[in-house]
Amino acid sequence: MHAVHRLFQYRKSLSTTVFKARGQRVKRCELCRISLSHCICPLTPKAVSNAGFLLLMYDTEVMKPSNTGRLIADLIPDTFAFLWSRTEPDQALLEVLNDPKWQPFVVFPEQYAESEREIVTENVICQPGKRPLFIMLDGSWREAKKMFRKSPYLSQLPLVSFTPQKRHGEEISSRYHIRIAANENQLATAEVAARILDMAGEAENAQLLDLWFDVFSYQYQKSVCQTNKGDPQAVENLQSFMQQRSSF
Ligand SMILES: [Zn+2]
Repeated sequence: MHAVHRLFQYRKSLSTTVFKARGQRVKRCELCRISLSHCICPLTPKAVSNAGFLLLMYDTEVMKPSNTGRLIADLIPDTFAFLWSRTEPDQALLEVLNDPKWQPFVVFPEQYAESEREIVTENVICQPGKRPLFIMLDGSWREAKKMFRKSPYLSQLPLVSFTPQKRHGEEISSRYHIRIAANENQLATAEVAARILDMAGEAENAQLLDLWFDVFSYQYQKSVCQTNKGDPQAVENLQSFMQQRSSF
């Protein structure tokens, strides 16, 4: 069990009514949240990373089977997850932010930043002895914007931001077909995290997270019988990447 699994159990325990997710009659795996017949848990890759992630999750986000912040926690050992609160941030959250081993960055589009805010748009470089901690605001786009505006405990931290179109001169469009995004360039949380790992100099982990995202996306769509826009090669691609990696 990782941080998102634990937060899911905790959030579930707070609910007085049963959370009604889409496809609620499906019998789901408690960990990957895909139907038991399409569970991807045995395929879960592990990464070694210098980076940490802190997922700040909006209310019922952690309950949604379509959440992709969970995929980051599958891969990256140092992933923390907390429920968002505007006025009463979790004490444990503040302790992570103040831990001297971490250098926290908020991941968010730069156009929302005030002019005096420090913004990193190229390589993420830390002070000596510190490791980057990437704070992801995990929810719908509207919820993420609210969290960004209304979290005073994050307002002094630098931002990490990237323009999807500018990556390697190629345009990125989301491969996230599970939720309808307000616009084509709106990436899923896990897709954003992959780009951030790239900026932190962890290209291999970035690729692994992309491949893992594709596995999740394909299997999820297969399990709910919606028109599957996922990559049917996804599982094969992940496995051949893992094989190549272990032969180095
Ligand atoms: Zn599973």
